[in-house]
Order: sequence, then structure tokens, then C-alpha cells
Amino acid sequence: MAIQRLTTVEDYKGFLDRFDTFLLDCDGVLWHGSHVLEGILETVSFLRSHGKRLVFVTNNSTLSRANYVKKFERLGIMAEEKDIFSSSFATAVYLKNILQFPEDKRVYVVGESGITDELGAVGINCVSSADDNGVLMTHADMGTVEQDPTIGAVVCGFDINLNYRKLAKAFTYLNNKEQNAHFILTNDDSTFPAPNGVFPGTGSLAQPLIHSLKRTPLIMGKPNKPMLDCFFSNYHTDPTRTCMVGDRLDTDIAFGANGNLETLLVLTGVTTEEEAFAPSQPIKPTFMIQSFGDLVKAKDA
Ligand code: PLP
Ligand code: CA
Repeated sequence: MAIQRLTTVEDYKGFLDRFDTFLLDCDGVLWHGSHVLEGILETVSFLRSHGKRLVFVTNNSTLSRANYVKKFERLGIMAEEKDIFSSSFATAVYLKNILQFPEDKRVYVVGESGITDELGAVGINCVSSADDNGVLMTHADMGTVEQDPTIGAVVCGFDINLNYRKLAKAFTYLNNKEQNAHFILTNDDSTFPAPNGVFPGTGSLAQPLIHSLKRTPLIMGKPNKPMLDCFFSNYHTDPTRTCMVGDRLDTDIAFGANGNLETLLVLTGVTTEEEAFAPSQPIKPTFMIQSFGDLVKAKDA
């Protein structure tokens, strides 16, 4: 199917009439880092005033939903925890409800407080790797990395303080065949956009473990099935009236397509128009718009 470009006010109106719920990727759709994109605040208010439901779906595991609410507030967007679906929250739901993670086991978390907070909130015991932030190892320290039989899973998310000691611990727990700990990545993004360019993302940071262990982790975040399953078990939406909006073909648009949802690609983030239209591109959005903030132009029409 050809991508439908939305360029006129009539296009915007027709598009909005088709959906009740929008799943919105955050970075690249609503904001870049801490800069809200043009027209977003007005579009969010306009859509809500017309009874549209907005759910913010992000692969960024670094913030808990409670801290996301604060970030949204700082940026001028009203949101409640129930409106936010993040890869760290999905990981907590997955461990609790699907894996039924045992109460006498703990999760070693290579990542930031978004993961430990969400896991803690559903009653999962964690060992945070933050104690090793800034810890430099010497070769003589290798002997201080020991097995921990209480570890039943290792969760890896984005960790700005990733270091060898954390990797060595995660490897040691995951490499113990008897322990058979679960290996979970919050998301697999190879890069993520920052104000001054793109940087390595969680999927890239986890490569040393994947390579050394020769194990395939379970990957939660967009576009993968675990995140979809967790989404549909938490939110009861009519899939035919739900649209996934994102700036990346390989995460957001593929996520929507995997859930049989219609999708809207915005051109304010990672994917360019040329990439979307490339004949060799296997992932195609249903719709394309320059910016999600353009939809407010349907208001006065
Ligand atoms: N991972 C990290 C660490 C990030 O900072 C970001 C965006 O800021 C992402 C992933 C991608 O997030 P999203 O799914 O909202 O585009
Ligand atoms: Ca994005």
C-alpha cells in the first residue's frame, strides 16, 4: 500500500476522524531532549478536547512513569502515570505477570532508576548496579566479581554509567548454567537522538554481553511482541480506531504494524522521507506527516 501523505487541512481532518486513540512515541514526535516541538502543546490540547485518548509509548527506560509525569509537566504537557507506557514499566509488568518472577529471587539491573523504580513498584526485589557507578576496576579486581545465587534475572537498559564491573557481574550471573537467569533488554535501539547528534543506545550497550554469552536476550521495547502483549493487556482500545505515531520505521512503525494498527510517520525525528519511500524499505507507515504539531491546523477548519 502506498504511504498516504497528510499535507492539507482536509487531510488532517479526515485522518483525525478515523481514530479515537493515538499511541505517541515521545522523543522525535513530541520533543527533542527537553525542547518541545512546534505545535505539540496545542495539538495535544486540541485532540484531548475532542475526546481523543493519548498514550505515550517510549523505549527510553531511564525514567519511571512518575518521573515521566514530572518531565511532561515541566514541558507543559499534562499526563498521568496511566497515560505513559515505557519500556521499563513494560519490563516490570512482564516480570511480574508473565514470568511470575519468584519472590525469593532478585533482578540485577544494569540501567538507571527508571527500571529499579518500576520493578520495585510491582514488588520485585532488585540489585541496582548504581553502586558501581564510577567504580574503576583493575585486573587484580577480577577476583572480586562473584556468583550470586539469588539473581533470577538480569535486566539491561540504557546506563550512562555503564562500566566493566557492571558487565562482568551481569556476565557472571547470566553465564551460570545452573542458575539459568533470564536475560532481558528493555529495548534494542541501536542509537538515540540527542540535541547534538545521535549516540549509542541500549541495543548497542548490550552487545558485549550478547557477544560474550552467546545468548539471545528477550527484548521488551518497540517493535517487539512482549511490549505489544503488555500494552494490550493494560489498555483496552479498539485496534481499528488506534493509530501508532512515531519517528522511526524500525521501532515505532514496526511496533504498530506488528500489532495490526495503522501508523503515522512524522518527519521530525530519525527517519527521513527518502528512507521511508526507498523501494527497498520493507517497513511502510500508513500515513506520513511533516510534524505531529501540524494536526492543530485542523482545529479551525
Ligand atoms: N533510549 C534512550 C536512552 C533515550 O534517551 C531515548 C530517547 O530519548 C530512546 C531510547 C528512544 O525513546 P523513544 O522511544 O521515546 O523515541
Ligand atoms: Ca522516537
